[in-house]
Amino acid sequence: MTNETTAPASGSIMVVGGGISGLTTALEAAEVGYEVYLVEKNPYLGGRVAQLNQYFPKLCPPTCGLEINFRRIKDNPRIQVLTLAQVAKVDGAPGNNNVSVDIKPRYVNEKCTVCGDCAEACGADVSDIFNFGMGKKKGAHLPFEMAFPARFILSPEIIGTDAAQKAKDACKYDAIDLNMEAKTLDLNVGAIVWATGWQPYDAAKIDNLGFGQYDNIITNMMMERLAAPNGPTQGQILRPSDDKAPESVAFVQCAGSRDENHLPYCSYICCMASLKQATYVRERSPEAKIYIFYIDMRAPGQRYEKFYQTIKDDENVFFIKGKVAEVSEDAATKAVTVVAENAVTGEKIHQTVDMAVLATGMQPTAAEAKLPADLKYNADGFIINDFEKGGMFAAGCANKPADVVSSNQNATGMALKAIQTLARK
Ligand SMILES: Cc1cc2nc3c(=O)[nH]c(=O)nc-3n(C[C@H](O)[C@H](O)[C@H](O)COP(=O)(O)OP(=O)(O)OC[C@H]3O[C@@H](n4cnc5c(N)ncnc54)[C@H](O)[C@@H]3O)c2cc1C
Repeated sequence: MTNETTAPASGSIMVVGGGISGLTTALEAAEVGYEVYLVEKNPYLGGRVAQLNQYFPKLCPPTCGLEINFRRIKDNPRIQVLTLAQVAKVDGAPGNNNVSVDIKPRYVNEKCTVCGDCAEACGADVSDIFNFGMGKKKGAHLPFEMAFPARFILSPEIIGTDAAQKAKDACKYDAIDLNMEAKTLDLNVGAIVWATGWQPYDAAKIDNLGFGQYDNIITNMMMERLAAPNGPTQGQILRPSDDKAPESVAFVQCAGSRDENHLPYCSYICCMASLKQATYVRERSPEAKIYIFYIDMRAPGQRYEKFYQTIKDDENVFFIKGKVAEVSEDAATKAVTVVAENAVTGEKIHQTVDMAVLATGMQPTAAEAKLPADLKYNADGFIINDFEKGGMFAAGCANKPADVVSSNQNATGMALKAIQTLARK
């Protein structure tokens, strides 16, 4: 007879990446009794999901799901969260890895009450990567209002300037430490799960689609930020050239995806993301017309298919099967023209709209920044799981393009693989 509610467990697991996949792996392992180090390079947890406006197909805000996970982390003393942290070196073997983790200074300590006085006082504006460069943010800022850890950060750009000193002087709680330095932690862990996720494919590399050349051609992740209540326009979808609400929007599917010159694979979620974003526009402008240019519409599974059907039933949404050849903007009117050949009728289409959204795919972060460990990658930079060798595993979009549900399922599986490594030690 015992009151023990967890399985006997010993040893520690490192989870690299604090997006939805890393959060899931960390929580699943910690909640059965393992010590977990959660290593995240951003100053906050949540990964790309924190930048989304709503989740398909339920259209609820992702912050709800994230908040539940943040609460579980807060309540679990077995998880040690390291933000602004990156793995520098891994040595050893399954069951016994020595890991060096580099941690950048935040310049704000745990006394921060999130009062915001430092932001008011510092006066400096810096570029806003969270919003993909749309708008500016204060040199002292909270990454986003539900950020975990709930603590301000000083941008490295303002360190050594008057702005940093003004922020420090304004803090009543002695929470700003301008002498904070970078440090390295040396840790020993039995298993490592890499949940390093994805980054948006750089749309500027797709010459014919006009991104970076014309204001009113944006990417799908920019659309998420425009539609988000905590985004640069407080949730109003406004076209960048003149802040006008667009009355017509074109979505260009497979922008760089399934294309040997860019990303040869399907990112799995882009069709669903555009269908979802069509609802963002239609909700705000009941008369707005939506044109979705696609090669094949992919809405995998019954729930996604049902969502696709709902959007199809909207008489203001037009689906055009045809690969887009060119997107450009008129210098005088700022109208955007999408050129494509309709694959069903053979007709050449020149569709003029107020704004175009490029549905760019997900590229693994490891494609451009290989990780400091003995890992195998496929040609596109996704980490291949070597279950024979064991000890290190990839979860979520570090392993393959996936939606949140599949990422969570995969991340739960990888928690089990990590636990098995420790159990076999
Ligand atoms: C436009 C768009 C809309 C989408 N909408 C939806 C939707 O509505 N519903 C849905 O189910 N899915 C949606 N998705 C997909 C969803 O974003 C992914 O399924 C999800 O982000 C996968 O989570 P992840 O944790 O694997 O990766 P990420 O979210 O990328 O998280 C990875 C984390 O790892 C960190 N990291 C990276 N490298 C390192 C490193 N070396 N060291 C430490 N930390 C590191 C990153 O900072 C990040 O926090 C959408 C995708 C796009 C492009």
